[in-house]
Amino acid sequence: MTITQKSLIDSVPKGLLIAGQWRPAADGATLDVEDPSTGGVLAQVADAGPADGKAALDAAVAAQEDWARTAPRERGEILRAAFERITAQAEELATLMTLEMGKTLAESRGEVIYGAEFFRWFSEEAVRIHGRWSTAPNGATRLLTMKKPVGPTLMITPWNFPLAMGTRKIGPAIAAGCTMVMKPASQTPLTMLALAELLREVGLPAGVLNVVTTSSTGEVMEPLVRDPRLRKLTFTGSTGVGRKLVEQSAEQLLRVSMELGGNAPFIVFEDADLDRAVEGAMLAKMRNIGEACTAANRFFVHESVADDFATKFAERMRGLTLGKGTKKGVDVGPLIDAKARDGVSELVQDARDKGATVVTGGSAVPGRGYFFEPTVLTDVPMDARMMTEEIFGPVAPIATFATEEEAVRRANSTEYGLASYVFTNDLSRVIRVSEALEYGMIGVNQGIISNPAAPFGGVKASGFGREGGFEGIEEYLETTYVGIAP
Ligand code: NAP
Repeated sequence: MTITQKSLIDSVPKGLLIAGQWRPAADGATLDVEDPSTGGVLAQVADAGPADGKAALDAAVAAQEDWARTAPRERGEILRAAFERITAQAEELATLMTLEMGKTLAESRGEVIYGAEFFRWFSEEAVRIHGRWSTAPNGATRLLTMKKPVGPTLMITPWNFPLAMGTRKIGPAIAAGCTMVMKPASQTPLTMLALAELLREVGLPAGVLNVVTTSSTGEVMEPLVRDPRLRKLTFTGSTGVGRKLVEQSAEQLLRVSMELGGNAPFIVFEDADLDRAVEGAMLAKMRNIGEACTAANRFFVHESVADDFATKFAERMRGLTLGKGTKKGVDVGPLIDAKARDGVSELVQDARDKGATVVTGGSAVPGRGYFFEPTVLTDVPMDARMMTEEIFGPVAPIATFATEEEAVRRANSTEYGLASYVFTNDLSRVIRVSEALEYGMIGVNQGIISNPAAPFGGVKASGFGREGGFEGIEEYLETTYVGIAP
């Protein structure tokens, strides 16, 4: 770590943010934050226990009434000021993110811009929350609807996008007038702690955003999910943990949003522009080292162009340089931890055992850090585990298809339904295939679909609810209907 990186980490608050104050865990415990490129310890942050979790919810509940009464413009201006500050501090935030998460600086810079845009978007949405007025069909009464903030919200986010997964929730909650308890992933808390301090500095009132870092995650979160004062739970993470949280939230019928795992198909039709498809494949596969819920997980390529596609794609993958994300010239950083790296190795071994061919890559890199070679596999059979499980690493399995109907059937044969990608130059096919794919999001001739102005979310085991777009703020609003007799 350089001196500037060390002073950057030193500048981040390491405590719990409760009622506007940074404080240590009640029992003084701390948890280690690792650098995934070396396995070394970067920093120690407060390790909250259940009493700290409850204190954070107490603060959110206490702040809710006043916060809900603030003028929409005031909430919008806080978001706008935070957007400006994130943009001004983009380099520091990106460096912090790279240090704790591993992705390259270029990718972290991209996430900072993407994450900040949710604040800009929802600063504009804060003043566009509407109800309606109408006359009942029989003319006897008037129907007024109004929108109100849902109330105190628990937010749980993953490590793969330490900033954007947070701003995608905090932005609409601030715009709608909800208070929050935010729990970032224990592997990447520093970016969120820096963001929380930034929000405090631009004038977010005490208690509106409370941040709890903990390694006793289930033990600290479950009582909050079951606390009747909590009004909403929004979770981004794995489908397994999402299922558990939905079960817990059933007790008090919480409003719930779930952004869960994916298993994105990437379909290349015979009429596609192949170079464009390879470009799209590099983005859809390699963004975030393959550690994205939207990552292309299964490549289905028409049998007439599959060899060409695999050759070009493998050539690009072979040209990538692995290394520490802060180093110049590095294209691909390490995976988040040893478990993640070993999991990817197992999936590749399983595919090889079942007959897949390794065109490039195929192995973990020995030595320090959790690196895995960019990998392309062909002839991957449908019973290979990676065709049904999230790979979450830089591995691209290619299978072929003969007809459009077969491509769609195979793409849909998964419990997941988050992102999907289609490459074709035939507009009628775009319409047919988009209507047939069971996915919340479809990218046509593009390898990145996330956009703050679009509704991000999935169907089936990928969850429910939408983040971003006009839909994003609705997740934080309740509708009250008032019938008025004239
Ligand atoms: P994860 O293990 O489910 O963890 C996500 C968050 O949940 C972390 O903050 C984690 O805390 C917390 N958590 C774990 N167990 C919990 C429990 N029993 N109760 C309450 N919270 C709990 O997922 P991950 O490995 O960090 O992230 C990868 C997954 O997220 C992938 O499946 C990916 O597809 C999905 N994801 C989805 C989206 C989307 O928008 N759909 C976006 C990004 C990622 P700790 O860190 O303390 O364990």
